[in-house]
Amino acid sequence: MENKNIVILGAAESGTGAAVLAKVRGMDVFVSDNSTIPPKYKDILKTYEINFEEGGHSKEKIHNSELVIKSPGIPDNIPLIRELHEHSIPIISEIEFASWFTEAHLICVTGSNGKTTTATMICQMLENDDLSVALAGNVGESFAFHVAGEEPVDYYVLEISSFQLDYMFSLKADIAVITNITPDHLERYNGDLQAYINSKFRILNNMTVDDHLVYCDDDPTIKDELHRRKPEVTMHPFSFAHTTANGAYTDDNKLIFNINQITLKMTLEELALQGKHNTYNSMAAGIAARLVDIRKESIKKCLKDFKNLEHRLEEVVTIHGIKFINDSKATNVNSTWYALESMNKPVIWIAGGQDKGNDYEKLRPLVAEKVKSLICLGKDNSIMIDAFKNVIDEIYETQSMIEAVGWAYQLAEDDEIILLSPACASFDLFENYEDRGNRFKTAVKGL
Ligand code: ADP
Repeated sequence: MENKNIVILGAAESGTGAAVLAKVRGMDVFVSDNSTIPPKYKDILKTYEINFEEGGHSKEKIHNSELVIKSPGIPDNIPLIRELHEHSIPIISEIEFASWFTEAHLICVTGSNGKTTTATMICQMLENDDLSVALAGNVGESFAFHVAGEEPVDYYVLEISSFQLDYMFSLKADIAVITNITPDHLERYNGDLQAYINSKFRILNNMTVDDHLVYCDDDPTIKDELHRRKPEVTMHPFSFAHTTANGAYTDDNKLIFNINQITLKMTLEELALQGKHNTYNSMAAGIAARLVDIRKESIKKCLKDFKNLEHRLEEVVTIHGIKFINDSKATNVNSTWYALESMNKPVIWIAGGQDKGNDYEKLRPLVAEKVKSLICLGKDNSIMIDAFKNVIDEIYETQSMIEAVGWAYQLAEDDEIILLSPACASFDLFENYEDRGNRFKTAVKGL
């Protein structure tokens, strides 16, 4: 690897992390970003004396590199990436690159929803048992940045998106977790759901029968795909629908883990995170932790005390009996489905944003049952309005969060819920989902 001439495309969390890792390993590295690099990352590049450009790509330099590390936000179909493929220049992801430089055990979490929650829980369970572990990938610091640091850990829990998986080749997970697979990001996969599924299943690459797959056995897409592929890995299903021999399941109000002949039982009321989706996440995390022999007490402690993450069904405040919930991280239809499913009072629903090829059909029955009024908040609300105009009487649209929250407050009555759960990406009106959630909370506090 020494003296390798590397180009990194994109200078955000993963690109900057990869650049630092390449630099500290003595490689010749150049970073290229076609827009302005945020000051935080520019400072890091300068500190490490890494050459970079912004506001455009120097094609010649890039075409002469021996290896390109592509940030996950860069689509495959832009001319630059096509040209690199034509020149047979290898392209990898930052996660793949970082994996070349660590011997740590890898617990890799992917899926359409629940990745951050599940990965964070696993990390806490391992910490509770005093293992040396770090959480990285799509959450917090990049994997590469961690690996570049001076303190090696024994375990990494990695949250991995499909865009990172697309450019992973040699990484081998010791434990892979697939939380669920439902349509998302289809605009990046030419509307082809199977291409997105294939991408998620790349997490199994290189795994053997000594490695472990933890997966949701109630998810028809995962089940069909496993049936077709028959991977030679050790399987650990979790389910609400049936008992499992080497996994987790629910029975009445109990959650039961049954791994390697050791049983751990809890009641569902004991779980800190309520809602069916979170019970699934708790099952996935508990199995992964048992597979590295984490003590039952450490698993229970995490599941009982876990603090809900910001922007995920986060209860903001109750004003005059009206509860405000921020679920800005619900950026696809399935996550919003679980949000609505867990609502037990009439809902004023704030939704919309950048559409990702959404199919709202699955939401219609729940919306008819639970939603009193819909406020569409986005640049292009027409798809959403068309999808729900026959099931909700009151639909409004705006491009202002303050207006959306103000209207919702006027429409809501005592003992009702105002829920921001967009089912769409945030990039039309906001910087990202955090910005959207924060602006919701600011608007609520301004009432
Ligand atoms: P990810 O990292 O995959 O985006 P998060 O844990 O950040 O997942 O949660 C994202 C959104 O999905 C939130 O709205 C959350 O309430 C919802 N969610 C969490 N876990 C699940 C699950 N297992 N199934 C469906 N939705 C989920």
